Amino acid sequence: MPESNPSSLDLALTSWRQALGKDAVLTGEDCDRYGRNCIAVARRISAVVCPCTEAEVEIVVKIARDQKIPLYPISTGHNWGYGSAAPAADDSVIVDLSRMNRVLEVDPVLGVVTLEPGVTQQQLRDYLDQHQLPFLVPVTGAGPTCSLLGNALERGYGITPHGDHFAAVMALRAVLPSGEIYQSAIAEAGGKDVDHAYKWGVGPYLDGIFTQSSLGIVTQMTLALARVPERVELFIFGLPEEADLESGVDAVRALRQSLGDGLGAINILNRLRVLSMIEPYPLEAAAQGKVIPGDMIEAMAKRRRLPYWFGVGALYGTKETVPAMRRRVKKTLGPRSKGLLFFSKSRLGLLQALMSLVPGTLGQVMQERLRTLDETLDILLGRPRETALKLAYWKSGGVPSARDPDEPLDPARDGCGIMWYAPLVPMTARSVRSYVDMITEICPKFGINPLITLTTISERCFDSTVPILFDLQTEGEQAQACYRALFEEGQRRGFLPYRMNLKSMGLYVDRENSVYWRTVERVKQALDPNQLFSPGRYHRGVVPEAALNAAESEMDNE
Ligand SMILES: Cc1cc2nc3c(=O)[nH]c(=O)nc-3n(C[C@H](O)[C@H](O)[C@H](O)COP(=O)(O)OP(=O)(O)OC[C@H]3O[C@@H](n4cnc5c(N)ncnc54)[C@H](O)[C@@H]3O)c2cc1C
Repeated sequence: MPESNPSSLDLALTSWRQALGKDAVLTGEDCDRYGRNCIAVARRISAVVCPCTEAEVEIVVKIARDQKIPLYPISTGHNWGYGSAAPAADDSVIVDLSRMNRVLEVDPVLGVVTLEPGVTQQQLRDYLDQHQLPFLVPVTGAGPTCSLLGNALERGYGITPHGDHFAAVMALRAVLPSGEIYQSAIAEAGGKDVDHAYKWGVGPYLDGIFTQSSLGIVTQMTLALARVPERVELFIFGLPEEADLESGVDAVRALRQSLGDGLGAINILNRLRVLSMIEPYPLEAAAQGKVIPGDMIEAMAKRRRLPYWFGVGALYGTKETVPAMRRRVKKTLGPRSKGLLFFSKSRLGLLQALMSLVPGTLGQVMQERLRTLDETLDILLGRPRETALKLAYWKSGGVPSARDPDEPLDPARDGCGIMWYAPLVPMTARSVRSYVDMITEICPKFGINPLITLTTISERCFDSTVPILFDLQTEGEQAQACYRALFEEGQRRGFLPYRMNLKSMGLYVDRENSVYWRTVERVKQALDPNQLFSPGRYHRGVVPEAALNAAESEMDNE
């Protein structure tokens, strides 16, 4: 990592202030909020610069190059559960791109939008509504204030039809460590429109090297948007017993294989994960550092009439195709599940109106359930909601009491402890069983409640998300130890994360004799020999070429 001694940093700060204006450069206490995160990682942040245009990003990079100051770009910096806005290495200057928040272009005929890093899910929603454009926002559980661009660079996913967010990226522009502007060969050759309509370009596919990496500052991105379908239906189902999981997995896979794109992602959640959405955390029963006792979970689940596993999915299509798909879902899932129900927006509205007439607790419980379903349906319709984000607050973290109801949730600001373990799991009954057994065995050993979600990210693979919820003040080490144990046992069993938090990247990148990570290092050295961008993010840091060659010849001799 380049040395950023005070004098070079001071020179850089002066130059940035001159070029961008005083308000665009933050130092001292003004940087504190960028260090707040949910995974209990501490980072020294030298300063924050906030460019407003691509030209300003170029200036920021030029000055950083001259003074050898490491930069760490963020879009909205809400990478909660993975590190929030904190940089991978100490003494970095954060490049906060949230002021670059223009929707640059929408092509309603081809269904693509070009936007800057600071554009949030809610902003795109408002833009599409204002211009009456019939598209879904590719929303995530992280909610309205999160960027689309940063999420796609993390290869994040959601449950709307274009659920794989990097797959929907058609084109991007980035400032390289050299200060040059990267764009695809087709765009360079004058084919901007077709570049926005075709993902792969020509020649080696390079856009992907800007994801989960440290090789460029992405200044704009073109995304393919899914059109609002004629009809959308949400369905829910239960697998009553723990042992019903295997047949549920087989049914879900069969549906994904037979229904194709009309079927959105299906989520399977264990009952503890469902309880985290509908019950307050039973602090009195779960002593600090211990999990919620089994009999208590049993009682809460019984009171709420929860099955052991709860499933939710969506059908997207026309008034002809959705009923046909519904019949297929009934045929496949019906015999293996309980309580299979389908809801459209209008049906939910009607049920909510009816339930408001039912007095007492039953009426209240039903209204609450219908409200949650309604919010879930909104998410499936590409409308960002905070529904899923509340999970971060289940065990720890306080929403300020004088909170303005319009003020968005922010788990990093509010001291929530959450660290995502997000491994890929082959969609077979055997793999899922081995995976679930692993989570339920390991998490409680570290005082972590085993909350499990399995999301179909293709017809072959689940990504599972286990939120390691912990007290940020007292349980940081416990949470990290739990993550490590899950990573290592998962590795033995064949389940590996699709994305890593700041503290844990070493579990992948520090593997000895890894040709993959040595190759990443070579690419890094070719593009960023001075380690100017995001040092330590998905790469090992400084590895001189001689050391890479030595490691290679050592392997040859083995
Ligand atoms: C309860 C809860 C639910 C969540 N649900 C989801 C979910 O459903 N799906 C999901 O994917 N995530 C989810 N998250 C995780 C996370 O909050 C989101 O992925 C969020 O969108 C990431 O933050 P961001 O958009 O502000 O990206 P940022 O934090 O701005 O970016 C993430 C990282 O990408 C890099 N980066 C960002 N912008 C640039 C750029 N312009 N150039 C170069 N590099 C850049 C940086 O290294 C940065 O640290 C959830 C989190 C919580 C707590």
